[in-house]
Amino acid sequence: MNKLVNITIDGKQYEVKPGKNLVDAAKENGLFIPTLCHFREVNPPLGTCRICTVSVDGKTTSGCTTKVYEGMNVEINSPELLNTRKAIIEMLFAEGNHFCPSCEKSGNCDMQNLGYEMGITVSRFPHVYSKNLVDFTSNRMAMETNRCILCKRCVEDVKTYDGKDVFSFVKRGVKTRVQIDHEEEAKLTDTEAKHAMDICPVGAILVKGTTHYQPFGHRKYDNGGKTKHINTSKKLKHNGDNGIFTVATTSLAGCFGCHMSLLDIDLSILDMLDIVEFNKSPINDIKKFTKRCDIGLIEGGCANSENIEVLKEFRKKCDILIAFGECSIMGGIPAMRNFVPLEECLEEAYIHGLTSEIGTNTIPNHEDIPKILDRVYPCNEIVKIDHYIPGCPPDAQHIWKVVKNVLLNEDYSITHEEFKYD
Ligand code: SF4
Ligand code: SF4
Repeated sequence: MNKLVNITIDGKQYEVKPGKNLVDAAKENGLFIPTLCHFREVNPPLGTCRICTVSVDGKTTSGCTTKVYEGMNVEINSPELLNTRKAIIEMLFAEGNHFCPSCEKSGNCDMQNLGYEMGITVSRFPHVYSKNLVDFTSNRMAMETNRCILCKRCVEDVKTYDGKDVFSFVKRGVKTRVQIDHEEEAKLTDTEAKHAMDICPVGAILVKGTTHYQPFGHRKYDNGGKTKHINTSKKLKHNGDNGIFTVATTSLAGCFGCHMSLLDIDLSILDMLDIVEFNKSPINDIKKFTKRCDIGLIEGGCANSENIEVLKEFRKKCDILIAFGECSIMGGIPAMRNFVPLEECLEEAYIHGLTSEIGTNTIPNHEDIPKILDRVYPCNEIVKIDHYIPGCPPDAQHIWKVVKNVLLNEDYSITHEEFKYD
């Protein structure tokens, strides 16, 4: 039997089996190094996602492709490494089209779950809104390449009974895409097709008719996870006038659902009115700011020039700005138009839409009508946002909890169930 090797991980000594890679060796010792490409001890490991970035003897490298050796000194959870991992996930979110509330994989998605685990509410990188075609041509599978993170799991693991590849990478560099070979895909059994969907760490591979088959509460990640402790780094500098704080709210390009949720707090509204008065808000129909506000709550992203003006005014007039709901955080459902050229969107809406009378309709254009933007922008791409409340819509009690904690300068903790963008 091979002699065990001694390694140090985050200052503690471990004896591990020789030949193991760091992700597996750490796992055997109860330590978790997150990864999206590594699975079932695939050999050699794929090393494609780089989320398992660790430091080995002072050098940054991927844990799944690094084998253990005697005397190895490994760091896996330093603040820098946690931040690097977080940044990689944020880049993946920004690079693909990840609209969790409308995604078939939501609740079963490894990347979404890692986002929750790392406390990611927003990507610090601008969204790309990729425009790849979604392949529905197979009778059984759909391929949403705009969600694919190019982990290569499907390429390596999904084969036909005669050993043929079903998935392959095409093109190179930033243009690399995964594609299905429809002839080979037809040879898979239904169980094998379902397996392909399940090993995909995101919702890129879908088997028609089998998505959304689990109700909320029964999905893979519905019940896991820890409580997040969120430090309210941006705090108010005063205690309100006579203990009463002023809150303004607005709805930009959203469906008003977040405001409906805000109003859904039942009896907590009495607690709220003890410490909050509303200034400019659709709730009380006050159209203009009458004073500086402690908190501005923003629903919706920016789809037109007026949204930008309003958002910038909120930034100027409010000490703390909170984006609540998916649309304000990443554009949400309105941002689905970002994949289609603006002209086509307008023609579809005003000229060729089902309710348009052919030949008589025009695209409205008047100086009084706000100019529509080239795409829908998340709020943090326009102004600085201090806090985010995810959800579509966020739960009423959760919104109130965050607002109250920020107003009272309390650190707040939110449960895994509350911290959701699905
Ligand atoms: S559930 Fe996963 S694949 Fe679907 S949009 Fe969210 S992160 Fe992307
Ligand atoms: S389709 Fe899924 S499994 Fe295949 S490379 Fe993309 S993310 Fe990975």
